[in-house]
Amino acid sequence: MKILISSCLLGNQVRWNGAQKLNQELISWCEENNLELIPVCPENELFGTPRAPINLIQIEDKTEAVMGSKKITELLEQKAEEIFDRHPEANGFIGIVGSPSCGISVGIKKAGRVTKGVMHKISKIPSDDSGQMKNPKRRDIFLERIKKYERGRHCEIR
Ligand code: SF4
Repeated sequence: MKILISSCLLGNQVRWNGAQKLNQELISWCEENNLELIPVCPENELFGTPRAPINLIQIEDKTEAVMGSKKITELLEQKAEEIFDRHPEANGFIGIVGSPSCGISVGIKKAGRVTKGVMHKISKIPSDDSGQMKNPKRRDIFLERIKKYERGRHCEIR
């Protein structure tokens, strides 16, 4: 079964500063469960590496992704849509904890609350992140969700 995964979790050096975030434990779990991993990185596709870091901030009633003083929310949303459209075969997405693009529960600067990163907001397939999936129960739940999603897809085809 194919799933998308944040490229930096596989050890690819695509973080804003050229670093990576290899998560061998999570990769091994994916391998044990026969998940084929397709790396994706919306920020690297848009801005290359290295790049300025992105933050989430509240501007009036809207949460915006900013790079320096530039609002990039729409650009990121379009890129996330494009990535999911490019991979209709994917049954799920695993992002990385804390990333404004790939985290599932990301702090908004000085707002005292969290929101979903853009990849989770846009995703129509089951998604979670590496922080939540440290919990084995949460990993099992994700596995059930993607299996159910795949079964539903086959029902639609028939
Ligand atoms: S955009 Fe996602 S995949 Fe790319 S470096 Fe940031 S967290 Fe990793």
